[in-house]
Amino acid sequence: MSDEKNKDRYTKETHLIYGQAHSKKWDYDHHVVPPITSSATYRLDSAQRGAQGFVEFAHTTEETKNKEPILIYDRLGEPNKDILEENLAYAESGECAVTFACGMAAISGVLGVLARSGEDIIAHRTMYGCTYSLFTNWYPRYNISVQLLNLHDLDMLRSAIKPETRVIYFESPVNPTLTLIDIGGIAEMTKQINETRPEEEHIRIVVDNTFATPYCQRPLELGADFVVHSLTKGIGGFGTDMGGVVIGPEKYRDMLLLYRKDFGGVLSPKAAWPVLVYGLPTLSLRVQRQIQTTMEIAEHLEQHPKVKAVSYPGLPSFPQYDLAQKQMRNYEGAFAPGTLMYFTLKSDSPQDSRDRGEKVINYVADNAYAITLAVSLGHTRTLIEHPGSMTHSAIPAEEQVQRGMDPGGIRLSIGIERPEDIIQDLDEALSQI
Ligand SMILES: *Cc1c(COP(=O)(O)O)cnc(C)c1O
Repeated sequence: MSDEKNKDRYTKETHLIYGQAHSKKWDYDHHVVPPITSSATYRLDSAQRGAQGFVEFAHTTEETKNKEPILIYDRLGEPNKDILEENLAYAESGECAVTFACGMAAISGVLGVLARSGEDIIAHRTMYGCTYSLFTNWYPRYNISVQLLNLHDLDMLRSAIKPETRVIYFESPVNPTLTLIDIGGIAEMTKQINETRPEEEHIRIVVDNTFATPYCQRPLELGADFVVHSLTKGIGGFGTDMGGVVIGPEKYRDMLLLYRKDFGGVLSPKAAWPVLVYGLPTLSLRVQRQIQTTMEIAEHLEQHPKVKAVSYPGLPSFPQYDLAQKQMRNYEGAFAPGTLMYFTLKSDSPQDSRDRGEKVINYVADNAYAITLAVSLGHTRTLIEHPGSMTHSAIPAEEQVQRGMDPGGIRLSIGIERPEDIIQDLDEALSQI
């Protein structure tokens, strides 16, 4: 049966287990599981075939798309990455995917392709700390301006757009506060503006979908142009390897491949393999279980006398609950509010809040069994961290508060443990303050 037929007949969840049953990228037709390839360079047979390989690399045509690639050198392309890319594009309902060594390589890759010196990027003001550092420490050196705005305010966004603006960049849910950005609303506004511009000046929307995973949200279906992921997180799922991916329109594939070839940042096949074999096939299973548990824990913490507020898109008290319902949907269309929450503790002052947050976290680090103090997220194990002093320490303390972060705020990424075990560890830690 042709793979195109399979896509119509089977659900996305099942497809992520099998991928394309027969792929031109893969000549190991009799393996049930694709082998890890480990070859930095490839036999070229003849000078002519070698030359043809260089002609075809990053020159995708209808003809080359459906033929076996001429493999040349791992940095240009190799089977594990290529098969993984087919599956990742499918998981996000995108036309093509290009993998990178890690999430930051993917983010700098897509922005490197979309923005040049003299142009402008608009980004939401709260985001992953290293992306913030990329925008504030590095892009000024390349003469790329970055406006960090509150993208919850669409009128403000509209008035900030300049003729040089090429990219609108954000995460949703936002790391670490879990507020949401209206993907469809921004897409609608951008579409209107793009209609007045020549194509090379179009504004592209790039969404970091790491927190939601494609199981809970597919920004491309909502009108975004590109999605980036840290594969290190929920898609990889087991916390064994780093990786990143850009998913977007087919016509950008070649530019992304050329960027990756020249800037490096290529995903190792040994890191692509676990995502292909363990991560994607178990994504929906893991995330379904994690959502149930996250919901249960969020409800528990919301009732807890020591807790001031819980931010989780699945709670009816979540200020953007309607937007969550609209844009966070699983492959079957059911509400899928994700596997992370952010909570704050009752306190007398910002300093008191910070002290209490640290006390809870330190108690967990010393005593908990089912919760681990560690950065990263989306793993089979529940991870706790203090964004103010860890993942977001690149953002100065006063600015953290302006960006909606509480000095003592705690981020929880829920794993696949049983909920009562996580609750037991949390209650014990909260009883210390
Ligand atoms: C971890 C993370 C990144 C960076 O990914 P790496 O794989 O660590 O490079 C980017 N965005 C978000 C939201 C993340 O959580």
